[in-house]
Amino acid sequence: MKIICIGRNYSEHAKELNNAVPTEPIIFLKPKTALLADGKPLYYPEYTNDLQYECELVVRMCKNGKYIQEKFAHTYYNAMTLGIDFTARDIQQKQKEKGLPWEIAKAFDHSAAVGSFLPITKETKIQNLNFDLKINGETKQVGNTSDMLFSIDKIIAYTSQFFTLNIGDLIFTGTPSGVGSLSVTDQLTGTLEGQEILTCLIK
Ligand code: MG
Repeated sequence: MKIICIGRNYSEHAKELNNAVPTEPIIFLKPKTALLADGKPLYYPEYTNDLQYECELVVRMCKNGKYIQEKFAHTYYNAMTLGIDFTARDIQQKQKEKGLPWEIAKAFDHSAAVGSFLPITKETKIQNLNFDLKINGETKQVGNTSDMLFSIDKIIAYTSQFFTLNIGDLIFTGTPSGVGSLSVTDQLTGTLEGQEILTCLIK
């Protein structure tokens, strides 16, 4: 199982970090050891002074595929949730300045929190879902999946050129604007279409 993440998939978020709006999806991976599920807490890593949250729609693959065509991509995932792409922003900034890979800033243990999965049905408007993230009850991020620069089906078509996608793989589809820093004792709550499906405490 692997975790595929898309960077800068909402233009307002790309701008808030002074990044160019991409013309092709930006992909990075997190290993299985990054997964944080079942409402478990995240222990603030000792090697960063700027742990940040990025709340994202996450979809789960239900079929294996390579070179998946965009028009068939919707048949390859059948569950969704919200996730947090935890980021050591200070480390990422240093890596970016040096032109080095992001893994130590993005793919560390428990850096990919996921909430409870909901089935995707024929009625699900996957590219028109509202979601938000609250921290200690205060709304920090509000998103709608219609604002993605690259749709989930496009992401799958693009990604599967390079990587075989397998059943159980997760795709973090990018974060809207409003990212920011976390502190110990912060309580994160993610709501998807009015349903609270993600909680995570920073310890
Ligand atoms: Mg992200």
